Order: sequence, then C-alpha cells, then structure tokens
Amino acid sequence: MREGGIWCLALPKTKRGQTPRDPPKRQQNLHHAYYGGGDLKELILTMPGPRFLHCLPEQQERVRLAIDAAKAKLTPELCGLPGLDDLRRSMLASLNGFRTLIIRCSDCEDLPADGYTLERGKGMITLCQSLLAGPQERVNAVLFHELVHTCGGNELDGEGLECHCFNGEAATLPGGSDYRLFRSLPVRNGYHVGNHLIWNPVTGHVFVRAPGTEPGAALNVRFLLRRRL
Ligand SMILES: [Zn+2]
Repeated sequence: MREGGIWCLALPKTKRGQTPRDPPKRQQNLHHAYYGGGDLKELILTMPGPRFLHCLPEQQERVRLAIDAAKAKLTPELCGLPGLDDLRRSMLASLNGFRTLIIRCSDCEDLPADGYTLERGKGMITLCQSLLAGPQERVNAVLFHELVHTCGGNELDGEGLECHCFNGEAATLPGGSDYRLFRSLPVRNGYHVGNHLIWNPVTGHVFVRAPGTEPGAALNVRFLLRRRL
C-alpha cells in the first residue's frame, strides 16, 4: 500500500484478504494513466501509430517514411483539395493511432500487386515485399491509395487521389480493370459517382464530390484510357 492506499481502489484482495504490497504490472500502468493527469495527456499524444504484421524492421522503416509522407499530403488540406475534410480526418486518425490500422507485409504470391486492401473500410492494408524493396516514392503512393480504401473510399477515390497527390511522384495510372470498376459506378448528372470523387467518362475529368453530386474542386488528373496524366 502506498500514498494512502490509492492503489487499493482498483486492486483485488489476496487470498488471505490482504492488500498486496505492490499492484501487478497492468494495474501499475492503469494507475499511471488514470491518476496522473499530465501522464494521461502524454500517453494520448504518444499513442502508437499503425501496428505491423509480418514486417521486418527495415520494412517497418519504409512504411514509417510513407506514413510521414502521407501526413504531409494531408496537412493542411488533402493535397490542396477542399471538401474532403471527413476523409482527411479519418486518414490522419488512422496514421496517428486513433483508428485501427494494421500494416501487413506479404510476399503477395497469390495476388501479384504492390499492395491491397481486402475489406474496404476496415483497418488492414497489405503491402507486398517487392514494393517494400523498391523506390520509397512508390511505397508512399501505394500506402496513401490503400489508406483511402481503409477509410471507405472506392477504386475511383483511391486512384483519383493517388494520381492527384502523387502526380510526378510514382503514381500509376488506372488500368483496364480500374476503368471497368469506374464504369460500374452509378451515374448522376453525367458523372460516375464514387464515395468522395466523381468522374466524367467523356472528358476524363475528376472532381471532388460536392453536395448534390455536383463537381467540387478539380483534380489535376484526366482518366481516359490510353492517356497520360
Ligand atoms: Zn485501389
């Protein structure tokens, strides 16, 4: 017992009905977080970022660099695009550890890709070992793209924001399977409608989806098959 028995509040009694001399380690941490106001603030500010699964230390370092690059793209606006603040906040919450984000490193033998997100809106991103052994710029672009998916964005949102934010920095243009997904999206006012972006299939222009599915800010990309950015 210490300091007037403050730990006793959260501690079970021993078999003999005695209060233990020191609390178990978990209880000590609880005490530390709960009773020290300043410590609690520090604990929140230093909450760990994403967790890693099957990633080597050097792969984790590559991902941390990509996380820093993503945070820079999200501040003060999402790559200078107004109207995407909910998505922006969600992405930052994932990167800062306030929303579940697990980065899984894989050989991707079954699914050749740079990376993927199996369940949109869920907190796991798979990054492939071949990607993590390549240029950092590409790791940055892929992590950002997949992060859009974990925050609920569909393929138009992921491709559009990757190409806008990483134009000239290792973004890759959508391919034929991406265009099939774009074209399968519902059409409104002549635009194929994503969760955050809309696409004009005639001109190739991509815009932020404004209220009423009107075009908001224009992205610096044009999505037309066989066209450059
Ligand atoms: Zn995608």
